[in-house]
Amino acid sequence: MSRIDEISLEEQPLEWDTHLFRTAVAQYEEALTHADVDAGAAERMRYPETAVMVSVPVRRDDGTWTVFPGYRVLHSSVLGPTKGGIRYDPHVSLGECAALAMWMTWKCALLRLPYGGAKGGVRCDPREMSRDELQRLTRRYTIELLPVIGPEKDIPAPDMATNEQTMAWMMDTYSMQIGHAVPEVVTGKPISIGGSVFRSEATGAGVVMVVDRACHRLGWDLAEQRCVVQGFGNVGGVAARELAGRGAKLLAVSDISGGVYAPAGLDYDHLRKWVDDHGTLAEYPDVEHVSNSELLELPCDILVLAALEEQLTAENTPRVQCRLVVEGANGPTTIEADEILAERGIPVLPDVLTNAGGVTVSYFEWVQDLGRLFWDREEIRARLADKLSDAFDRVWNLAEQQRLSMRSAALVGAIREVAAALDARGIYP
Ligand code: GLU
Repeated sequence: MSRIDEISLEEQPLEWDTHLFRTAVAQYEEALTHADVDAGAAERMRYPETAVMVSVPVRRDDGTWTVFPGYRVLHSSVLGPTKGGIRYDPHVSLGECAALAMWMTWKCALLRLPYGGAKGGVRCDPREMSRDELQRLTRRYTIELLPVIGPEKDIPAPDMATNEQTMAWMMDTYSMQIGHAVPEVVTGKPISIGGSVFRSEATGAGVVMVVDRACHRLGWDLAEQRCVVQGFGNVGGVAARELAGRGAKLLAVSDISGGVYAPAGLDYDHLRKWVDDHGTLAEYPDVEHVSNSELLELPCDILVLAALEEQLTAENTPRVQCRLVVEGANGPTTIEADEILAERGIPVLPDVLTNAGGVTVSYFEWVQDLGRLFWDREEIRARLADKLSDAFDRVWNLAEQQRLSMRSAALVGAIREVAAALDARGIYP
């Protein structure tokens, strides 16, 4: 008998059991100890409801074929259709999607959106692919997901390396199968086909709305804070713009090419123009160039993590020199880093609250699509600010009352919302 035959079923890890999924579950278990929810509901929420794996064949521009692994994980549909982004990245795996899907459930529940969480993606390197190849990849992946997606079932959105164009191709592919335009099947679309104004800026703008609220509660003046922003994409770039717009000092920012640092402060408009013209910050003039790890350890007041997951770890967190950590990305702080930050008294504005602006305006987009009636930018901005402040206040108050970290308080609030719905609905049959 080979070793494989000897492994008992109990010993076999679940297919999504990866480091990031364990992080999501460890945060969940910690929050459960404070949430006081039914044990049956707690057990149900530990697992994704559905996990789909597909292989996506793509004809390359040179005529050869490549087959990419693709995934979509739906964590919970108790509160409504599942919602979450699609990412194209070499690190995409079933476990990563499962972790991110669970976080989407908490994010939607905390914001009181009528959605559960999902996440999907294709393991590929989008920077190595042409626009035509990405289009063929997106259309074939959409077809493979037909059994799970739909405006009442599961609604994709952009995530890492996907954008409005990706959503337009998904919407078109789905609509061609149904026989008429179905804009409400995805969010984050171009405005010309039912997208919402302000959606593309919503995640980054929402991050700073939450920071603003936190500064108010902490008794800090945001205009006096020195900020470091990791990431200059759709989240970090907009967050940097909003911070600068509120008078805060941008000490350093980074992108995939590394970081730029100026003790006297960076000029956001100049940075933006440079990146639009040159593609990256690599050759940005008259500043100190720092590595990604140096950037995270710069002395500052507010450190915004808006790039990748697992950036603050047990290794580098003892050297971090900020007064507030802001999670613009999903899962940028490991469990060990969270503990070190707590011991050092550095508060963390957690991802499920802080970057929820994106999915909140996605919800507004879906509502507008279903109602065939569109709102203006000011209305959306005001509704987003209301939603985020309401969620922030609930998290802050629960953290104070129960002496919890803001992450635990956010998760406790979210878990209770889902558990109440599970309790009311029961399990089938
Ligand atoms: N991908 C984004 C997130 O992680 C947005 C999801 C959505 O708009 O549905 O929150």
